[in-house]
Amino acid sequence: MTIAEAIENETSETSATTTPEPTVTFDDLGLPQNLLNAVKELGFVKPSTIQERAIPELLNGADITGIAQTGTGKTAAFGLPMLAALDPNLREVQALVLAPTRELALQVSEAIESFATHINGLEVLAVYGGSPYPPQIRALKNGVQVVVGTPGRVIDHLERGTLDLSNVRFLVLDEADEMLRMGFAEDVERVFSEAPRERQVALFSATMPPQIRRVAQQHLNNPVEIAVARQSTTVSSVTQDYAIVPFRHKTGSLFRVLATSDADAAIVFCRTRGAAEEVGSALVERGISAATISGDVAQKDREKIVERLRAGQLDVLVATDVAARGLDVERIGLVVNFDIPGEPEAYVHRIGRTGRAGRTGRALSFVTPSERNKLKFIERTIRTKLNEVEIPSPADVSEHKTKKMLDSLESRIQAGRLSMYEGLIAQYLESNETEAVTVAAALAAIAVGDSGPRAHAEQAEYEAQVAEDRKAKKIREERGEGRFKDRSGRGDRFDRGDKRDRGDRRGRDRGAESGTRYRLSVGHKDGAEPRGIVGALTNEGGLSGRDLGRIDIFGSFSLVDINTNMDDDMIGRISRARVSGKPLRIRVDDGGPAPRGKSKFEDRGRGSRDRSDKRSRNSDRSDRFSKSRHGGRNFK
Ligand code: ADP
Ligand code: MG
Repeated sequence: MTIAEAIENETSETSATTTPEPTVTFDDLGLPQNLLNAVKELGFVKPSTIQERAIPELLNGADITGIAQTGTGKTAAFGLPMLAALDPNLREVQALVLAPTRELALQVSEAIESFATHINGLEVLAVYGGSPYPPQIRALKNGVQVVVGTPGRVIDHLERGTLDLSNVRFLVLDEADEMLRMGFAEDVERVFSEAPRERQVALFSATMPPQIRRVAQQHLNNPVEIAVARQSTTVSSVTQDYAIVPFRHKTGSLFRVLATSDADAAIVFCRTRGAAEEVGSALVERGISAATISGDVAQKDREKIVERLRAGQLDVLVATDVAARGLDVERIGLVVNFDIPGEPEAYVHRIGRTGRAGRTGRALSFVTPSERNKLKFIERTIRTKLNEVEIPSPADVSEHKTKKMLDSLESRIQAGRLSMYEGLIAQYLESNETEAVTVAAALAAIAVGDSGPRAHAEQAEYEAQVAEDRKAKKIREERGEGRFKDRSGRGDRFDRGDKRDRGDRRGRDRGAESGTRYRLSVGHKDGAEPRGIVGALTNEGGLSGRDLGRIDIFGSFSLVDINTNMDDDMIGRISRARVSGKPLRIRVDDGGPAPRGKSKFEDRGRGSRDRSDKRSRNSDRSDRFSKSRHGGRNFK
């Protein structure tokens, strides 16, 4: 296959051909078991495209040229078949990998070492400029099988007679274009001339300039050309952001992201068809011009929708991966991964829907607290760190809208015909003692405010929460509690559950807002632990784990969020249940002193569905008590 054909194959993912290719696993590639084990231990599940294509060819003994960008998994593509070809019992240099820089040489040698963990006696040595010779020379004398080095240092060793290439049977040029750019062409030639004729060569390069073609023609033996077009790499014109968003805040977050975006059009990716449809209709309900395409929307309808998007009749497309294959619409300035994909390739494909035709684009991925590992995996694979951002608050949305409105003010003033309004405003100012700026502000708020994405009460609650979290964060930072500066702490903004205390319950954000806060009469002093409390609530109270939210354990008592209605019977049972030998004596938390008698607590139990008690839970732990103590508002 020619390179052009290969690229064609990679990129011709038109929306017409949506049949997924059968999945190839590492086991299908013909690698020996010890390497397969190592690969599994590294957490590689599925071979990347370049691996899938290069490994069988190299195992067959062919030379290859691989055109692939950074992050496509080239190291394993050559490293695994290379290790399969070596004899660990022979203590001579059998494989040489040339890499342009010290960092790359180190990286590659470490990767090869990790692939070789189950090969006894296999040694890998990295040689690069700027490091002392003696240890390298010693290692070479002791007999390493794989040398990974920068061309300059490799030549130095050749000249000193400390490196012998006469037994090399596997030669790799990694990032060949970079090596030539750095002026290593002659050194590379020299290496080729010193290595035996009978050897296998793998040449990898992100690009194929004529100079590299010449090298390949001259030194490679009928190479199989493998090209992977941009598939697992990302486009630099796309800004890649992520935000930690607990699951149930996703839809609200999406509205605010869309409401503050300046993109002409956006595409929102969901994992499943069901989710896409739900999100699509939620957007339409809020007056956003959106449509959903999933795999089972007929091809013709899909084309119509895409046409409307292109023509500007539609602003937001909600889609699943399958449905968005090959979508190429210049207007798309924003891609939202409503659900972050598990596969880096899907991620790359998705964000490639923006930044088309030389435009810039933005990709924003929603990551739930328990999906951080998916994010890490994507970052590792594409070798790019995503920027953490915060989801705009409702206030940000209002501000954005107001600014937009102010931007159009000038032209509205120019357009004239304002005298009726001027008259009314002047009259108002005269008869009321109000500043003009206040009047303008109130008008702006009216114009912008109520169409905000959240109902007022909810919005106020949300803003209070954000403000408190910021305050708490600031206090922690001022105290110099470095670990709290950790980015992961940001999730607190939405998920007020304190992850550090909740351990494995961190992914559960449901209790944070939707339940009722109860107080239990056991605490640290009694030796209470979350496990015991959860056990008592689920066993004695018949609650399920899903009903439980955040648990905070204090000295003599604990607080727990329970998001289900409990009848008196349940409350009674839980109340009598013992943790660390003490009855739990559950009651709704009002921040007051411990309960004295059963009747009082039962009273409270019934009052627990009072909405106002929600508010007390929104405060940070430190001021929760003082607040609710003033109010005592639960049981008026
Ligand atoms: P390249 O040389 O093409 O830039 P690397 O070989 O350095 O890419 O691989 C990039 C990252 O992807 C590394 O962290 C590597 O461990 C990881 N990686 C490679 N192949 C796979 C795979 N099949 N599955 C998961 N991760 C992989
Ligand atoms: Mg590499």
